[in-house]
Amino acid sequence: MNGLMMDFPLTLSAIFRRAESIFRRQEIVWRNADRSISRYTCADFAARARRLAAVLLDLGVARGDRVATLAWNHGPHLEAYFGIPLMGAVLHTLNLRLHPDELAYIVNHADDRAILVDESLLPLWEQVKPKVNVPIVIVIGATKPVADGYLEYEALIAKAQPALDLPDPDERAAAAMCYTTGTTGNPKGVMYSHRALTLHTFGLLLDAGMGLRENDTVLPVVPMFHANAWGMPFGAIMVGAKFVMPGPYLDPASLVDLFIRERVTLTGGVPTIWMGVLQYLDANPGKFDLSLIRAMYVGGSAVPQALIEAFEKRYGLRILHAWGMTELAPLGTVSHLPPALDDASDAVKFAYRAKQGRPSPFVEIRARGEDGLVPWDGKTMGELEVRGPWVASSYYNRDDAADRFTDDGWFRTGDIATIDEDATIQIQDRSKDLIKSGGEWISSVALECALMGHPAVAEAAVIPVTSAKWIERPLAAVVLKPGASATPQELKAFLAPQFAKFWLPDDYAFVAAIPRTSAGKFKKSELRDQFKDYQAAE
Ligand code: ADP
Repeated sequence: MNGLMMDFPLTLSAIFRRAESIFRRQEIVWRNADRSISRYTCADFAARARRLAAVLLDLGVARGDRVATLAWNHGPHLEAYFGIPLMGAVLHTLNLRLHPDELAYIVNHADDRAILVDESLLPLWEQVKPKVNVPIVIVIGATKPVADGYLEYEALIAKAQPALDLPDPDERAAAAMCYTTGTTGNPKGVMYSHRALTLHTFGLLLDAGMGLRENDTVLPVVPMFHANAWGMPFGAIMVGAKFVMPGPYLDPASLVDLFIRERVTLTGGVPTIWMGVLQYLDANPGKFDLSLIRAMYVGGSAVPQALIEAFEKRYGLRILHAWGMTELAPLGTVSHLPPALDDASDAVKFAYRAKQGRPSPFVEIRARGEDGLVPWDGKTMGELEVRGPWVASSYYNRDDAADRFTDDGWFRTGDIATIDEDATIQIQDRSKDLIKSGGEWISSVALECALMGHPAVAEAAVIPVTSAKWIERPLAAVVLKPGASATPQELKAFLAPQFAKFWLPDDYAFVAAIPRTSAGKFKKSELRDQFKDYQAAE
């Protein structure tokens, strides 16, 4: 016996129509490359997204074609987020911090038919162009006439009529794609369906997710080329929140200025961004009032407990720690304090919030150790496996990566985690970063998060180095705060009460900076290269 309800497709088109018809007056704001601020209404946005859809149809872009973007967070990028899927093509966001060769690989692998590129990123595109074959290049934000063979976004939009009668795509059709940067091997493409992105948006809007509301002003610091800006553009448009984009200016001063100027209430980005904002606030005591911000979602790499405490105690700002992956569109877990801890001490609450939290509805988790699935005891480490309607089922044209998916339909995350009895996960490491010392696992993430709680330490990353006796031992690369000092002995003594003795690094390297990935995470592969000949002290 079937149910007798409508088979209504779950598409971005429906999310778009909702905003277009209900939230017409809502504001959308962004900072331009010349630092000026642009703003328009949701009605303007919707009309321009429909014009973009018409432009692409007119240029011969077909359903299923990949249309790339190489752009910062701004209005036209948001138009692409909806206009491209609306006409049935696939939005392919390109990471503008990648090497031109990597970009060329990705563009070729995805077989992009067209690209929308910021004028300020044309120098990067010019390095990619000779290695790829993309027939249609559209320049966004042009301040001067575009070169021969290129089209100009504003001119195309001005000429086009909004495409009004577009049939909804099939909900299983691809709406967007994004390549994981991957520290080993070539980047892998994740192909999101309309259905997956729509359900992800529902998940995001729950209080157990990011809880976006109509009266929020949402500012994604996370780039729109990084895992769909964590789904915030789709979420904000679906609930009708005010949406603010920082353009290319992700430095603390520009961000804080925009938070205050636009009365931002909800934001999100990787930890290194917030470490910078914290230092900026500390350096300017009493100067900025950020009290309107009710939630800062932080993820992409582990958030040190000290960062959560510092923001809350010094500025009353609430960090919510989230775990996700490009392969999960990207939301996996969020660390909202469970009611059972309402009466717990601050110390217990902060320790909980430094974990990655519990899975979103429909994201199912388990972890596998060498001897099979591990118990949910908060102690036993295993590789986290997930499944759900917004989890990738395979990579785009990468049969060689089929081993990332289990035979019974789970995705192997490559993250080593413990799972508490109540399903709260704590990421201990990426499997490739885990340190194995004398046969025992040591979590580099736990050590570096603890080190970043030392008052003299600005940043820390822990990597394995060779040890004659133990095979591997942890080495802590440490960036000290300006003017601060600390000795290895002091740092070790600081860690000692928190960890088993064999976890404590004996080796410390004081460095000027920790190398970063294109997404602003610590790039441990580069650090490992730097210290590949290093011999541990013991
Ligand atoms: P990339 O591989 O380019 O970093 P992703 O953004 O998809 O691409 O990264 C996902 C990975 O980031 C996860 O597998 C995990 O290792 C790490 N990660 C994400 N969020 C967290 C978090 N809150 N704590 C620890 N690690 C995290």
